[in-house]
Amino acid sequence: MSSVDAQLLDSLERAFERHAGAGDHIDVTKLQQALGLRSEYLARRVLRNFDRGGDGLIDREEFLHGVRGLLLGSDRDKLMFAFRLHDEDGDGFIGQLELLRMIAISLAEDEVQTRASQPPERLAHMLLAMADKNLDGKLSFEEFEAAVRANPQLLAQMTRSEALWIAPNEDLLARLDRAPLGRAVELLRRLDNQRWELAFLVLFVLANAAIFAAALLGERGGQAASPWMQLGRACGACLNLDGALILLPVMRRVLTFLRSTPLARVIPVDEALGFHRLVGHSMLGFGLAHGLAFVVSYASGHASAPITRLFLHTQRGASGLLLLLVLSTMWVFALSPIRRSRRFELFYFSHLLYAVWFVLALVHAPSFLLWAALPLLGWALESFWRARRRARKSTILTAQALRSGVTRLELERPPEFAQRAGDYSFLRIPAIARHEWHPFTISSAPENATLHVHVRSLGNWTAALRRLVERREADASVEPLAVQIDGPHGAPSTHIFESRYAVLIGAGIGVTPFASVLESVVRRANLLHEQPSALQKIHFFWLNRDQYSFEWFAALLAELETLDDRNLLDVHMCMTGGRGGATAAGLEVARGVLHAVVQRDIVTGLKTLTHMGHPDWAVVLAGIAAQHAPEAVDVYFCGPQGLARKLQRICARLHMRFREERF
Ligand SMILES: Cc1cc2nc3c(=O)[nH]c(=O)nc-3n(C[C@H](O)[C@H](O)[C@H](O)COP(=O)(O)OP(=O)(O)OC[C@H]3O[C@@H](n4cnc5c(N)ncnc54)[C@H](O)[C@@H]3O)c2cc1C
Repeated sequence: MSSVDAQLLDSLERAFERHAGAGDHIDVTKLQQALGLRSEYLARRVLRNFDRGGDGLIDREEFLHGVRGLLLGSDRDKLMFAFRLHDEDGDGFIGQLELLRMIAISLAEDEVQTRASQPPERLAHMLLAMADKNLDGKLSFEEFEAAVRANPQLLAQMTRSEALWIAPNEDLLARLDRAPLGRAVELLRRLDNQRWELAFLVLFVLANAAIFAAALLGERGGQAASPWMQLGRACGACLNLDGALILLPVMRRVLTFLRSTPLARVIPVDEALGFHRLVGHSMLGFGLAHGLAFVVSYASGHASAPITRLFLHTQRGASGLLLLLVLSTMWVFALSPIRRSRRFELFYFSHLLYAVWFVLALVHAPSFLLWAALPLLGWALESFWRARRRARKSTILTAQALRSGVTRLELERPPEFAQRAGDYSFLRIPAIARHEWHPFTISSAPENATLHVHVRSLGNWTAALRRLVERREADASVEPLAVQIDGPHGAPSTHIFESRYAVLIGAGIGVTPFASVLESVVRRANLLHEQPSALQKIHFFWLNRDQYSFEWFAALLAELETLDDRNLLDVHMCMTGGRGGATAAGLEVARGVLHAVVQRDIVTGLKTLTHMGHPDWAVVLAGIAAQHAPEAVDVYFCGPQGLARKLQRICARLHMRFREERF
């Protein structure tokens, strides 16, 4: 048995035990839960396929045999599994009624509201008309096989989703699919992708090391100091450097300006916040070491004086202790679990202590001014500009509570608002909270007269916005709603214009940066006949759990589909909550047939056919890379971290550059 086989068996055994619980079998209720199915009928059909003994239960051996077959069986085995699911009476044919029932149940399972012009009856009828070659009014296995094989995506996915639901182990599946690269090769490719980030990191470490060594080895005023004192001074010298650097990566105006210059290709502006965090960690480390070294040095030089004297009776000691307290407080409240929790204010307000830190640092060591003067001046200018910008008043022109918890706002564009596609802005709506500014991507193109933002209800502020908009809708209120807009600020998506071939992947609300980019590119290329950038082709993927979320930008995408004569855009919609495997095989084929005839998808109403389930990213991205080889293809992503890591790994393998926008 190979190691992959052993792992598979082990994983399946565990999956069986999890589903079977105390009993030694899986009944229809447990299977329904395992598959996450609403319909008991569908669960019964799947159970029937596993249940070789015919006792209405799946025992361990039947389970292992069935799931193994789903994962590793031949295409024909998998097709047979799907065929038997649909063939309810087991007569070796799928009749019109069987097909209709399966299609209706699959649609209900995915909560897809069919369009009036495309009811399940029409889907079943069209599939039969296309696939029933001998015109006997039913589908034989051969006819069903031919219809499915005409849809390679579906065939590739066939039964995989059922297997994954029953025995979830994506890593194992990835291993079965293809031999992975060695870890070392994968790491090297990733480093190659991030060479400028790496260069900056090395430069930062070397600069600290050089300053540390120079301070450690140097002597002050010809006096020899104790080794502890020297160590403390060396750490202090590094604190000078890091204290001067910490503000640079959070100067949004400077970063936005840098993005518009060729320097953005070399300076890793997208990683500015990561660099800020790194410098923060380094400052805490050097701060603690600096304090400890001086305490030890003091204790060994003043054996008779208590240590409290250092902190209470010397300015250096007292300010040093306060500096450490302030820095540690900021550091603790900036940790990811707090920042990403629902207590963002804790992070936000504790970080305002930065001003106290700089004052104390100058009291503690006035020579720090030599290091920090320029960054402090830059920061003061930034703050001045920000205050001026934040004072500008604007109005919310329209507000709409869309389905799936998203609120759409249309804002009056402030004067001199020089937006680039993909930019974001901070918004303050005094009617919701007087002191809170929240960042949102501008989802409309710069060419639009007004600004649009789409806000997903997540926590206090965004939920309060939704309630406010719902109240106004209920009262039919037309009273103007005041808003202040601080921006625009640059974001990673602005790099898209440097790529020739780009893949944009937005998950859920993560589509907002790409919406404005797509609109801008297609409008300029097709209406104004401008070549706005080097872009030759965009492959756009939008993943949503349910049908309603597609409504946010369906109108925009429909317009872009009709505008795009130059075929710049390739749109792929994926409904990840939908079933794309064997249980939905009939529906999938029928959707494909209907789409070929009426050119409209039943999920979104767009020309693009919606794909059910998650795409097989390794296959999809490899296909796009091959299509444009030897040219480079860049991948841009905005969405959850888990998917980001997965895509990053695949991109490293395929030599594709990966850029991520984090909300
Ligand atoms: C550059 C950028 C662009 C964004 N674009 C969009 C968008 O187009 N549509 C959208 O729905 N969301 C977007 N977001 C996320 C949005 O800012 C947060 O969902 C919102 O601020 C949450 O506020 P809350 O009080 O409702 O939630 P909370 O429960 O207070 O917080 C939920 C999470 O949101 C983040 N957050 C909260 N307040 C802030 C703040 N003032 N600044 C930064 N992050 C905060 C924190 O990580 C927190 O854990 C974007 C975020 C960033 C950084």
